[in-house]
Amino acid sequence: MQQYYMPVKIVRGRDCVAKSAPVFASFGKKALIVTGKSSAKNGALADVSAALFANGQQAAVYDKIPPNPTVACVREGGALARAFGAEFIVAVGGGSPMDAAKAIAMLARQDADDLFSYRPTDDVLPMLHIPTTAGTGSEVTPYAILTNDEKQTKTSISHPAFFPKVAFLDGKYMRGLPQSTAAYTAIDAMSHAMEGMLSVRAGAVTDALAAESLRLLHAELPALTAGAYTDADRDALLLAATLAGMVIANTGTSPVHSMGYSLTYFHGAPHGRANGLLLPAFFEVCAQKAPERTAEILRAAGFSSSAALADALAPLLGEREKIGDEALRAYAGKASVNKNIKNCSVFFGEEDLFRVLKNSVGV
Ligand code: NAP
Ligand code: FE
Repeated sequence: MQQYYMPVKIVRGRDCVAKSAPVFASFGKKALIVTGKSSAKNGALADVSAALFANGQQAAVYDKIPPNPTVACVREGGALARAFGAEFIVAVGGGSPMDAAKAIAMLARQDADDLFSYRPTDDVLPMLHIPTTAGTGSEVTPYAILTNDEKQTKTSISHPAFFPKVAFLDGKYMRGLPQSTAAYTAIDAMSHAMEGMLSVRAGAVTDALAAESLRLLHAELPALTAGAYTDADRDALLLAATLAGMVIANTGTSPVHSMGYSLTYFHGAPHGRANGLLLPAFFEVCAQKAPERTAEILRAAGFSSSAALADALAPLLGEREKIGDEALRAYAGKASVNKNIKNCSVFFGEEDLFRVLKNSVGV
């Protein structure tokens, strides 16, 4: 039996935020805008503020979300949402502000002593998400990934009430995106689509979404490699990322993400870069253990082999982090107890994970 569920209304097109003031009006009088620093420069914050202002709605702005959001920042944001009396949240930015907004929307309504063991209820402020990177797909997922210092990793908290109500997709906000962020976030999207196809929860619907996402991403490889984008490229990348988000909303991710969290936590590798470093070596092992499905996934992504995938990603990744075996063994151990292991249709034991890590880093 297969199931598919994704309750987010997707509004897409140039100036869709500015044109959607009535949509914002229906969520209440007071909004907390959760964002980082770039939205004040790329036009997204101005568009949201104008839509709210046109409706006579009040807004407070919490713009202190760092990359890889922390428990401290979501607690501060939650306290602000309560003090301000926010009735809804508008999240503007990459995966970091979009994920943080979900935890803030929950903390505005619920007390949680330990965020990572707490079981959320449905009582979460409604959210509207505006992605300004094309990668995580957080605008269509029920996941909020936070830095977990106690376990020295990143941990996903999730609940169906974390799905935003509306996602607005407009590639114009990505015009000033740094090339490294553009490339890494596109790799994250590719990773989601490919990992989703490998999930035990993959089905006909998620496969169709993943295939279209991968087709779009493959067509964007020349732009990604050149670091030169038209607005059509940005819109296509954003759509690909949202489609891949719709995949993982139902399938979850794979050990690529679990291993990647250590590269981010201990070595500062941006999330999409971490996945990109690991993806070819991961699919090389998959090709040995499940040759047919792996070939199908690589074909959907436009590659004849994991080596061809490696060749396409190499120019986007540049020089690789050098990490010793002892640390890599520790990361393999951490990844081996992540719930993603059971989610993957190909079994990855600790030795397999070590092999992937070892083949992914610099020498
Ligand atoms: P990000 O951490 O949100 O943003 C990366 C950098 O790009 C930040 O410095 C950000 O600045 C800047 N930036 C964002 N949009 C920009 C724009 N339009 N122009 C110029 N600069 C811009 O990166 P991300 O890759 O989008 O998100 C990664 C996070 O999402 C990780 O924590 C990851 O674990 C999580 N994630 C979540 C899911 C999910 O399903 N929820 C899936 C995959 C990954 P400011 O933030 O200061 O604006
Ligand atoms: Fe991801």
